[in-house]
Amino acid sequence: MIFKSRSPDINPTPCNILDFLFPEGAPVSEQPLWIDAYNESTSVSPKQLLVWVRRFGLGLSRLGVGVGDSILIYSPNHVFIPAAYLSSVCLGAAFSGASPAFTVPELVHQMKVLGPKIFYLHPSLIQKGLAAAEQCGFPKEKIFLASDVFVPPQNGLRDWRALMATEEESKNWRWKPFTPEESRNVIATVNFSSGTTGLPKGVAVSHSNLIHNVTMVIETYNYGTPPERWLGFLPLYHAYGQAYAVLVATKASVPIYIMPSFNFVDYLKFIQKYKITRLQTVPPILIMLDKRPETKHYDLSSVREILCGAAPLSKELQHAIERKLNVRVTQGWGLSETTFAATGVPTGMQPLTGSSGLLLPSTELRLIDDDGKEVGVGERGEAYVRGPQIAKGYWRNEKATAETFEDGWLKSGDVAVVNEDGYMWIVDRKKELIKVNALQVSPAELEAVLIENPDIDDAAVVGIELSQGERPRAYVKLAEGARARLNEAQIQEWIKPRVAKHKWLEGGVMIVPEIPKLMSGKIQRKVMREWAKKDAERL
Ligand code: AMP
Repeated sequence: MIFKSRSPDINPTPCNILDFLFPEGAPVSEQPLWIDAYNESTSVSPKQLLVWVRRFGLGLSRLGVGVGDSILIYSPNHVFIPAAYLSSVCLGAAFSGASPAFTVPELVHQMKVLGPKIFYLHPSLIQKGLAAAEQCGFPKEKIFLASDVFVPPQNGLRDWRALMATEEESKNWRWKPFTPEESRNVIATVNFSSGTTGLPKGVAVSHSNLIHNVTMVIETYNYGTPPERWLGFLPLYHAYGQAYAVLVATKASVPIYIMPSFNFVDYLKFIQKYKITRLQTVPPILIMLDKRPETKHYDLSSVREILCGAAPLSKELQHAIERKLNVRVTQGWGLSETTFAATGVPTGMQPLTGSSGLLLPSTELRLIDDDGKEVGVGERGEAYVRGPQIAKGYWRNEKATAETFEDGWLKSGDVAVVNEDGYMWIVDRKKELIKVNALQVSPAELEAVLIENPDIDDAAVVGIELSQGERPRAYVKLAEGARARLNEAQIQEWIKPRVAKHKWLEGGVMIVPEIPKLMSGKIQRKVMREWAKKDAERL
């Protein structure tokens, strides 16, 4: 059976996302909307944002940037990133962000898959950014320093203001309006996800995808009424962060205090100081709110509601936070491949504990069991989702697109159950993906790094559920005679300089005689998961 959304369908007109956010003739506010949480005097209003968008837009088009191109940014969050995002997107050039925690090889992978025309690099990441650019043969004159304050030239790089046109020149510049057809086809963002299998891939999300998903969540949550204030710590290289800090904040006129990265005590301090009304969070933050002693030292009474997404939230934790903070806690489920959201709990509806809520407007779901049979209410099956927010596919990767997207349906790799009222629970994950602190870890990527070690013959990485959450665990087959040279701790050390910290093998390493494989040579992931489950009971 096909599960349908219980909410009325939405029907926005697909256009350039900029025309959706700033409709012709509508007033544009001069009040700060993006505010540096650490320094309130650094802020950007929608009016200022549009000045930057025009200056960037004209400057980038002079450099030949247009439809089908892309721009990569490697930076912590700051208040000018929304302008950088919207100015490339409005030209038809896709925006893509890399995690500031990435090592050089991780950045090289993203650069090679994406093939950007322009590279925005934060001054604090210059060494890694330049090393990656050099390895990819990326021209230095297309790299610009992307800070919230002007930076003088260094290492032969110029501030990104050097590419902008002047305010005077760009005063009358307009982005190109898109027909509905163009809106459905032009790619706006390329966020990276490993999908159901393999290495991280770029998820190609169109303007129309963004417009529909933003409309869905604004309808569902009544964002912006009554007036709200948000705290933007979610990374702007990820779909969840971009959705709220760039798109929904603009469309619903919600001021958002931007944090460059997450710090728990500062997070509490800012909720109190700025009287934050709603939190968009991930489960590890709710664990901190529940367990850390600092929580009770701050007045968090301005918070009316907490939205949690990006990873599973347990019933117990949801209950604990509801009681402790006396707030409504709802869960939403989504993937980079669903733009950002597919389910949620509409305002006025009861959030059932542990449930990720109801299908968003215009969204449909099928559940497919292990035998490929469609199942109904109360039965477990892989969630296939369809709707106008389903991405167009993977960026320049037809094979992965064909494997994951079929007749408008996205095969999510998540296993779900739906009750008779349409509430959905995510009960398992079928795909390889591991989530550490709600961030993606691709087992295939770690396996490739492990077997680069000449003393390692074979390796399989799988998620293990520990008290602190899911962590990557490696099963490793050593080369002949390597036992004397390499132990488990040394294998953990081998990984560390090569990948971002959240990918470290904190779930441990086990040396095994053989990695279980199928005849095709593929790792038997199901068996590996059972091994990890057994090991978790022992650890
Ligand atoms: P990403 O593309 O990084 O947003 O990761 C998407 C994946 O995060 C999903 O396929 C799920 O495995 C997981 N995820 C997101 N939201 C939830 C949720 N509410 N409950 C359980 N898992 C979730």
